[in-house]
Amino acid sequence: MIANRWDDEAATKAADAAPDVSAARDLALQVYATRLIGADRALVQYGGGNSSVKLVQKDIFGRDINVLRVKGSGCDLADMDTAHMPALRLERLLELRRLDALSDADMYNTLRGAMLDARAPDPSVETLLHAFLPHRFINHTHATVMLALADLPDAAAAVAEIFGPRMAVVPFFKPGFALGKAAAKVFEANPDVEGLILLNHGHFAFGASARQGYERIIEHTNMVIDWFQKRRGGWPAARCEKRPAPPQQAQELLPLLRGALGDAQAEFSADRDAPMPILDLRTGPNVREFLARSDMVELAGRGVATPDHAIRIKNLPLVLRSPDMAAGKGALTVAISTYVADYTACFQRNRARHERDLQMLAPLPGVIWLDGLGLIGVGRDATAAAIAADMGEENMLAMTLGEDCGGFRPLAEADLFDMEYWALEQAKLGAKPAPKFAGRVVLVTGGGGAIGLASAAAFAARGANVFVVDLQEAALARALEVLGPGHDGLALDITAPGAAARAIGAAVARFGGLDILLSNAGAAWTGEMADLDDQLLRKSFELNFFAHQTFAKAAARVFLAQGHGGQILFNVSKQAVNPGKGFGAYGLPKAATFFLLRQLALELGPKGVRVNGVNADRIRSGLLDDAFIRERAKARGIDEGTYMAGNLIRREVEARHVAEAFVALAEAERTTAHVMTVDGGNIEAALR
Ligand SMILES: [Zn+2]
Repeated sequence: MIANRWDDEAATKAADAAPDVSAARDLALQVYATRLIGADRALVQYGGGNSSVKLVQKDIFGRDINVLRVKGSGCDLADMDTAHMPALRLERLLELRRLDALSDADMYNTLRGAMLDARAPDPSVETLLHAFLPHRFINHTHATVMLALADLPDAAAAVAEIFGPRMAVVPFFKPGFALGKAAAKVFEANPDVEGLILLNHGHFAFGASARQGYERIIEHTNMVIDWFQKRRGGWPAARCEKRPAPPQQAQELLPLLRGALGDAQAEFSADRDAPMPILDLRTGPNVREFLARSDMVELAGRGVATPDHAIRIKNLPLVLRSPDMAAGKGALTVAISTYVADYTACFQRNRARHERDLQMLAPLPGVIWLDGLGLIGVGRDATAAAIAADMGEENMLAMTLGEDCGGFRPLAEADLFDMEYWALEQAKLGAKPAPKFAGRVVLVTGGGGAIGLASAAAFAARGANVFVVDLQEAALARALEVLGPGHDGLALDITAPGAAARAIGAAVARFGGLDILLSNAGAAWTGEMADLDDQLLRKSFELNFFAHQTFAKAAARVFLAQGHGGQILFNVSKQAVNPGKGFGAYGLPKAATFFLLRQLALELGPKGVRVNGVNADRIRSGLLDDAFIRERAKARGIDEGTYMAGNLIRREVEARHVAEAFVALAEAERTTAHVMTVDGGNIEAALR
């Protein structure tokens, strides 16, 4: 059941913060109610749903005018504020009802012309529905249980059984003018209803106050939950809040699958170097319970629960059966080719009905069902993949509830196609060009340290999804906080047996594969060779050489499974070529890593894998901390600033400069076996 989270104290506080006029208080209360709705994932997901309030506001001449404040297009209900609710002159909107038809372009032109603030965001596509209904407070959701209800074969009978005369049913129309008119007509024939169920679409609830409008959303939704629960004799398994550890089988399968999807993407875009998609695997009990259904394959052909989902996850999932998954990349390629061919055929069947010349979208699946194993969301970055996976899970719930309680009958192909290719829906996804490293997975060892974090942040800023590996839990947590959402990580000792396979496996399980390994972690132990402890030297070799080798080996395995090249970047050191007194224990394994870089470049080059590195020197970090800098400067009789700028260009070299060098190497598409020096200039350490 969904909790009623209305809190009088918080609501009053929100209203009191608004200017002391009743209209502003009502707007503040509706914003508060909207945020409550948006914060509940069972009610609203990803920009779905909207809300409105009708008020009297002053125009520029000080005259009172009736306005509709309605959610702006493209913002999330959970982050709602008054600026996201543009004001429109209500009379202008009501006048439109006299028309028999209105194109989307003419509708938006009129909506924009009716706005009090021309700079405000575009109002919701459902603005006219809000305008044509007389209620002061209106809320709208696409809650999954409401979709299950709205997709029943005899939804009207179920609605009557659950709500009696409290609710009316509106047939399906594409959102916009026609739906607004149809909803108003249904309401006027049933003027006592508290809300409307829009077939194949969602739920509207009305209120005389913000609180009543909110509480009706909760009450109605809970009535539907209760009905399904009783009728089905129990609720399906719940979603997991935390990701369960994926089975080993998934770690083997994901890079092959990502590579095969990448092949299809490259073919569609005619770009061999197009990024492979990010894969978000879900293996919770809800997913496994659904996949165990005997009608699973049949349900895969039914379509998505609401047309709103079709723009992100397409109408149908790709289903991979156990034999396909066990048979290697060839079988996956065949399954994907079949999906692409089916999607292309669907596009050809439906495009003719359209006046606009439609361009086919990438024919890849947005959701993949892995028989007995899990569900995958496919996206151009981790955020898009997570949204697709969430929608995939919600669709499984809608299918289960619907099919077990009368039937899951979403819209037919033609209607869903029209929604997927509707210009206004496509606009929701935005046409921003992808950043340089969007869709690239970068694993950074020592990612909590100065150079590691600066590098992780540099790749993240260019759209990459970063997997941070660090010895320290605290450093990892701090790094992930700096990086923000869309990144992940693991704390472990990279010199422990099996650590590389574990870390790379975790990155694969999280993002579906790997594109760039930034093998960065290192530490220096000092002492002159003549009396250096053997164990200490071995310890240094474990971290400064063997960890580089084991991670490179594990990364190469993933690269080869994907079949789309890959990159390895090593943080070497000037010690590798220019020994410093007392730094033998550090320089020796680094010299071996320097050689490893060239050896790997030679051997992996023909597979499209590039291997490069950076020789940095004198960077403020865990290796060279403030106390150490003070000591070294004092020993040389100079101040710290002069010591840190002790190079040809007389400027301190910072971690961010090293990070930029790693990015530059990653961008240099025809460069391999190269080491870039980032030390401000030091002729003794300069490479030939
Ligand atoms: Zn809607």
